[in-house]
Amino acid sequence: MQKEYKDYKGAIHIHSNYSDGSGSLKEIVESANQAGLDYIIITDHHTLRHKREGAEGWHNKTLVLVGQEISPPCNHYLALRIEKPIKPKGMDTQEYIDEVNKQGGLGFIVHPDSPKKRSLPLKERPWSDWEVNNFTGLELWSYMYDWLAPVNLLNFLYYIFRPAKAIKGPSKEALQRWDKLTQKRPVVAIGGVDVHARNIIPLGIFKIFPYQQLFSTIRTHVLTPPFKLDLEYDRSLIYSAIQNGHIYLSYDYLADASGLKFRVNTKNEEAIMGDEIKFSPGGITTLTASSPRPAQLRIICNGQVLEEREGTGIEIPLTKRGVYRLEASLAGKPWIFTNPIYVR
Ligand SMILES: [Zn+2]
Ligand SMILES: [Zn+2]
Repeated sequence: MQKEYKDYKGAIHIHSNYSDGSGSLKEIVESANQAGLDYIIITDHHTLRHKREGAEGWHNKTLVLVGQEISPPCNHYLALRIEKPIKPKGMDTQEYIDEVNKQGGLGFIVHPDSPKKRSLPLKERPWSDWEVNNFTGLELWSYMYDWLAPVNLLNFLYYIFRPAKAIKGPSKEALQRWDKLTQKRPVVAIGGVDVHARNIIPLGIFKIFPYQQLFSTIRTHVLTPPFKLDLEYDRSLIYSAIQNGHIYLSYDYLADASGLKFRVNTKNEEAIMGDEIKFSPGGITTLTASSPRPAQLRIICNGQVLEEREGTGIEIPLTKRGVYRLEASLAGKPWIFTNPIYVR
């Protein structure tokens, strides 16, 4: 039986003026509407104030959800689907991971490789504690931190006006680390914008990386049954899609990736990204991928490139169990990363 999924695109990891972002809810929502986003998840530092004030719900064509970024000096962690804000003071990393799980939430390690920037007024906040367990997943691709990687005081303005020049995709190390983790258990990858839309003081009213601009960059597409325009119902669809890894990330600045498909079929079963499926030794197990436009497609199995092809589709019979995922690039630029299908 083939289940039908809708492909909804959204932005995760957003700061408002309730923490260190500049925008009000109204401004953020208008920007999301303009960018054509189906959903956004606002995640201010230390607070769920927007949720308490009733911000969650449909705002025109965009569903607004609210989570929190747990942000001690390092080891930032995005907490989604939680009801009570979490104060990490006095807790070690594992304790706030556990606290999110206790609330039935979903937790993501964010910007784990934030670069050292001595020349810029930034506090570095890398993830230092990889011994932890029971986190839902990680932010595989952070727009702000990808952009930051080549930036210094001298080229700062160049990259402000040509941000796309800085974007290189998740680093090799980040991909290898994720592939290693998914060998042991499903670890969900999300994309994050980490938008703040800050006003830069020396430049007066000049706002860098406004919301609407970043909402057209890295998006997390969720695959779910259709929305019903009902907050409770649609929220649970989005969160269960995220929990199950029924998502892919794409740099939609290059092209809207909506419509991407990545599946594994056996005689009786079908798996989409994030799913587990049983390998059928005697029968046929087929992997198919199709892209909404011609691209360089790569199938990765257990961290190794299995198949690489230029075009709009791939179909290959699988000969072994493994963790399979799809990457796509457009003219050499990183475009799409799917969550894996776990063929057991
Ligand atoms: Zn952070
Ligand atoms: Zn953040």
